[in-house]
Amino acid sequence: MLASFIQDRDFRLVLYILSFALFIYGLGGLTGPRTAVRGNRIAAVGMAIAILATLLAPHFGQWGLVILGIAIGAAVGVPAARNVRMTAMPQMVALFNGVGGGAVALIAWAEFRNTGGYSGEPTYVAIFSLFAAIVGSVSFWGSNIAFGKLQEILPGRPIKLPGQIVLNVALLAAALACAIAIAAGTHDEILMIGLLVAAALLGNFVVLPIGGADMPVVISLLNAFTGLSAAATGVALNNPALIVAGMIVGASGSILTNLMAQAMNRSIPSIVAGGFGGVVTAGAAGEIGDRTVRSTSASDAAVQMAYASQVAIVPGYGMAVAQAQHAVREMTKALEAKGIEVYFAIHPVAGRMPGHMNVLLAEADVPYDELKEMEDANALFPRTDVALVIGANDVTNPAAKDQPDSPIYGMPILEVDESRSVIVLKRSMSSGFAGIDNPLFYEDKTSMLFGDAKASVQDIVAELQAL
Ligand code: NDP
Repeated sequence: MLASFIQDRDFRLVLYILSFALFIYGLGGLTGPRTAVRGNRIAAVGMAIAILATLLAPHFGQWGLVILGIAIGAAVGVPAARNVRMTAMPQMVALFNGVGGGAVALIAWAEFRNTGGYSGEPTYVAIFSLFAAIVGSVSFWGSNIAFGKLQEILPGRPIKLPGQIVLNVALLAAALACAIAIAAGTHDEILMIGLLVAAALLGNFVVLPIGGADMPVVISLLNAFTGLSAAATGVALNNPALIVAGMIVGASGSILTNLMAQAMNRSIPSIVAGGFGGVVTAGAAGEIGDRTVRSTSASDAAVQMAYASQVAIVPGYGMAVAQAQHAVREMTKALEAKGIEVYFAIHPVAGRMPGHMNVLLAEADVPYDELKEMEDANALFPRTDVALVIGANDVTNPAAKDQPDSPIYGMPILEVDESRSVIVLKRSMSSGFAGIDNPLFYEDKTSMLFGDAKASVQDIVAELQAL
């Protein structure tokens, strides 16, 4: 009696509805750092309910394999997620996202075999399943390349083959031709294998020509692809939770990709075309005409800030690399203890992933009301005494405003050059992600404090405490 009730389709549908209600509610929590962890947990409960509802399906077999799969997944996933460094998050997301795409492609292959090449199935089932196989496979292989580039297993530079575009179009055409033949009723498995191989090669060849530094945007795009392929699998398998979860991932991944591209003032096609970043394109670093930079010391920087009434902290990728966020928090406390007003200016693409700075600063318990978004910070800079730039480069580069030939021209920036003085913490005159020089470093009002950001900030804290 109880067994037939819990296996009933209507009961399982109620569980599915509950699960995607929790996905959507949880997603709402991800709009702010205060509620993000809770939002994640709520969505995870939703996912657990969706898995349970699927496992309750009648005639569900192979329990041993299911338990083994869950055990292997948990044994790999839990320690990986717990131990990952913040700066390695993009490649972790790439790996997990890729596994989703790969699973979708394998499900399509299994369905092909179970149904004898979709014989007896409605045509739409074959179409959605084959779409999922192509897109899931592209996403799996593309994500692996993205992971390899970010993990520096593969060279980060763009790798292009001769006739790359023609080759990619030919691979897409081959995958589509196999799909059309299968949907039209040819049941030969070699077509399914051909489709998966063509899509796999396409996934590799689409991502290889893109520079390593553009990978976060590519990962977000592939994430959207995985979502779409999962949703298509949901249609083919008649699984509402998969459709809703897949569409949420597809839609949010697309929105995120678009926001990142907009914040960098680049189009998605130009990112996918590759070749941006990593190469110095606008004069070698340290050489803008015969201009020189002024370097400063931790004690001078501390004195300069101690006599300010308002200080802006401008964090960037270098703060993440140096893991300087806790030292930065100590520094802001020391400044506030002296009655100095401090705020953090956050650029939407500072670091290497969306929200990178917010996550780091939340980790160091920086009060949220001290974080100012770009527009608000730009309004504050003209009355700011000292802007302390910590490992940020491109997001402060005035060339984006006044050098039309600059690769970042048009990208909205944090206008730190509007403040009364600027101190930049970085190790050398090296360029940032875009591979270009930064005229800010050569301005009269700017001084450079060279060294690892964490060590420099710790030195400033010691000096502030001694004052
Ligand atoms: P940048 O990459 O422009 O610059 C970072 C700077 O940090 C470097 O110039 C480097 O200089 C310095 N640095 C590195 N390690 C340390 C360290 N240990 N201590 C001190 N300084 C260090 O970073 P921004 O945050 O300014 O800009 C982000 C860039 O990434 C933008 O171009 C953005 O478009 C791009 N991007 C952002 C994405 C996102 O979602 N956030 C996604 C994809 C790209 P040095 O070596 O001299 O120390």
